[in-house]
Amino acid sequence: MTTDRSTEGPSHAVVGARTSASVENLMTILGLDVTSEGMKDTPERFVKYLKEFIKPFQIEEVLGDGFESPGASGVVVQAKIPFRMVCEHHLLPALGCAAIGYIPNKRVVGLSKLTRLVQAVGTEAPGLQEGITDRICKLFHTHIEALGTIVVIEAEHSCMAARGIASPGVSTITSSVRGAFRDVPAARQEFFSLISQVK
Ligand SMILES: [Zn+2]
Repeated sequence: MTTDRSTEGPSHAVVGARTSASVENLMTILGLDVTSEGMKDTPERFVKYLKEFIKPFQIEEVLGDGFESPGASGVVVQAKIPFRMVCEHHLLPALGCAAIGYIPNKRVVGLSKLTRLVQAVGTEAPGLQEGITDRICKLFHTHIEALGTIVVIEAEHSCMAARGIASPGVSTITSSVRGAFRDVPAARQEFFSLISQVK
């Protein structure tokens, strides 16, 4: 996913300045005083905010190769992983938490890698929660060659809480399953029973 932009096109500094100027222009068109003390740095802040959610990554750098663990046969579950993303429809943040489970085949990964992957995909690019959930599951499942992978994300979308339907507190829950978690109901049940024990 990572592209090297260092040898092509304008530099980051030039792109950054142009992007800030575009936001300043937009704010001016909307009748805002961008020269005021409170708003003079807002275009730059807005661009900086968006850039936090446009961070392509290489899967190898996030997950590594894992390590051999012939004895591992049970379900590995991690829950309450802090999750953030911005939706592609409104460029507004959604915040929540994720749980990921997998059944190792030949390899396991360091525990922090699960959290890293969830967070890396969340901030890779603006998207939909459904698509992000599926991408985490697919990337993990294929890279680690797990027997089964499952991802569940619960998030509150500020585009629903703070505008439009204006309904704070609504939880959106999405899931994605691959391998044994898709094909074997008992495996799925075990995952949900394990995460239900997390306080
Ligand atoms: Zn939205």
